[in-house]
Amino acid sequence: MKTTDTRVRRAITAVGVGRPVVITMGPENDHEGYLAFAAEAATPQLLAFTVRHSSGYVRVALPTAECERLNLPPICHRGDTHSDTGAHRVAVDWQGTGTGISATDRAATITALAAKSSEVSDFRRPGHVVPVEVAPDGVLGRPGPAEAALDLARLAGRPEAAGMCDIVSRHRPTAMARGGELLEFAFEHGLAVVSVAELVSYRRRVEPQVVRMAETVLPNGGSAFRAIGFRDAHGDGEHLVIIIGDVGAGVPVPLHVHVECLTSDVFGSTACRCGTDLDRARSDMRAQAGGVVIYLRPPGPMRACGLTNTEEFDSEAISQTVAWILRDLGVYTVRLSDDAPGFGLVIFGAIREHGLRVAG
Ligand SMILES: [Zn+2]
Repeated sequence: MKTTDTRVRRAITAVGVGRPVVITMGPENDHEGYLAFAAEAATPQLLAFTVRHSSGYVRVALPTAECERLNLPPICHRGDTHSDTGAHRVAVDWQGTGTGISATDRAATITALAAKSSEVSDFRRPGHVVPVEVAPDGVLGRPGPAEAALDLARLAGRPEAAGMCDIVSRHRPTAMARGGELLEFAFEHGLAVVSVAELVSYRRRVEPQVVRMAETVLPNGGSAFRAIGFRDAHGDGEHLVIIIGDVGAGVPVPLHVHVECLTSDVFGSTACRCGTDLDRARSDMRAQAGGVVIYLRPPGPMRACGLTNTEEFDSEAISQTVAWILRDLGVYTVRLSDDAPGFGLVIFGAIREHGLRVAG
């Protein structure tokens, strides 16, 4: 198992048993970090610990549906903020609390926000705990700390609600803790540490990233090929798989991975090699036993060499897309074409992570 997977699983286990974890925004030294925990597991002791080591601005990450169900309107009009910590909703206190600010009161409010049995009238507005609405699909929708906290709670089998608060520097109490100090803090208190990026790549590896759509056989000159459409499970990308000839289960399947390049693929621009590489891969496959072309159309701006910046795709994300497509197709051993684009090595790594084999 990868080291990063171990770190993610440690964090999931910790959240599952009600312990806080440290979420960092990146592996580099200058990133800030957050204490996060399953909201359901909030206790006065956990809140006292959180408030002592953090900014004290305790938030609860919630899915949109729960924000709506509990009538928690946005603090700002939608679209007015560019926060990376989710969309802030009106702060609340649970009706059974006193002033709402003590650790005991905030723990009660936080557990109430996690309870499916809670109702709109159970909360006073405004209060001292700030709900934040997370993006759909968690860290795969937006790589933010609120999304990471909620993902951990969900992956741990807890209700989808997570407490979170920014960790303050002990050495410089006027600043936030960063990088190495976050690790020190976690070590001292025996807390698991996970970065948002680790959670993103873990989820891409363990959760299917594509959904199979239409499938058909299309005529092509004197022969025919199978075409299968896929779409991203967590995004707008749509991809096409072309299967040429007979693709047997026992032999390495020639594979060409192609990222859409409109100017070259359709209009024959020779400003890049995209279209000629694709044509050659297809004619090689027709001449030999057959093969598979994965034609990727990543989300985001149109890709067209010579016209737009063609490097604007996430090579790690689309490599996981390739691996999940191969798993869906039931292809276990591939032979990558020589002219795989620049991210060939990343694809190679992703395919092997899934237990698939790369021959040759
Ligand atoms: Zn191109």
